[in-house]
Amino acid sequence: MTLLLIAPPGAGKGTQGERLADRYGVRHIAAGDLLRAEAQAGGPLGREIAAYQARGDLVPDQVVLDVLTPVVVEAAARGGYILDGFPRSLPQAIAAAELAARLGVTLQAAVYLYAPDAVLTRRMLDRASQGGRTDDTADVIRHRLELFAATTGPLIPYYKERGILVAVNADQPPDAVTADIQAGLSGLSLSRA
Ligand code: ADP
Repeated sequence: MTLLLIAPPGAGKGTQGERLADRYGVRHIAAGDLLRAEAQAGGPLGREIAAYQARGDLVPDQVVLDVLTPVVVEAAARGGYILDGFPRSLPQAIAAAELAARLGVTLQAAVYLYAPDAVLTRRMLDRASQGGRTDDTADVIRHRLELFAATTGPLIPYYKERGILVAVNADQPPDAVTADIQAGLSGLSLSRA
């Protein structure tokens, strides 16, 4: 199983990514988590990543690819991956397709989780009030949502045209979202692996 999770911040892609990875027995690779770990590790690269994340800006593609590629290569060798938070732009989508081709894996689905901005904002502010992430402030949240609409949004038609888009309403309880994702996936022909 090789699939992508595309979702605006706050849609719950981390939760759903974990569940899908458990279900299909493949690794959940969360781009934001890997980048946060690299930032925590410090050093010049870590500080650069931390600065982008703090502003809610996209980390440069080459940095993202350097961090993700070895993890994706290893997961592909073990049967696939749930890639959460990558790609986030058309150039990244092309890089993701090239990487998959090089590894001999087929991207089987792109799961798109959607919810109204007001719902997403409320979730992130709630998370922040419980001691969550430092990029969950009102200004940075607004910026992340705008960046999602402008830069990541074009991926929706891109994967739709390729016949692998599964769009799911994320403004529901987590179990209902999981059920809808599974129903959507079973509606795709996943026999191309
Ligand atoms: P969210 O989707 O809630 O913003 P993530 O953990 O997925 O949370 O991402 C947090 C931050 O990590 C982003 O704001 C961005 O700075 C960086 N990041 C994550 N994925 C990518 C990516 N594919 N390309 C560039 N930057 C990324």
